[in-house]
Amino acid sequence: MTVATDGLAPFPCNGCGKCCQLVGRSVETAWLDRGDGACRHFDEASRGCTIYASRPLVCRVQDYYVQHLAERLPWPEFVKINLEICASL
Ligand code: SF4
Ligand code: SF4
Repeated sequence: MTVATDGLAPFPCNGCGKCCQLVGRSVETAWLDRGDGACRHFDEASRGCTIYASRPLVCRVQDYYVQHLAERLPWPEFVKINLEICASL
């Protein structure tokens, strides 16, 4: 089954930047850790990503979902799970 990202509702990220400051917690993002748990590409002042346009796949929520999870998990369920994780950070 192939799922196109343009068929998915956008992930409702509020841009809080918490996930970018906790990359050290996950084995999938630990390689981005600048040494204090936060991503080396996170900008404290803007709370944004300095490489947003070219950020890695693991940071591209919809693209990551399509490539790794779409065949196992409906998008709304994936969004719900991830919003719960966001709220727990
Ligand atoms: S923690 Fe969730 S809401 Fe905050 S920036 Fe990351 S994905 Fe967006
Ligand atoms: S690369 Fe960008 S989007 Fe990904 S964790 Fe780092 S700051 Fe966040």
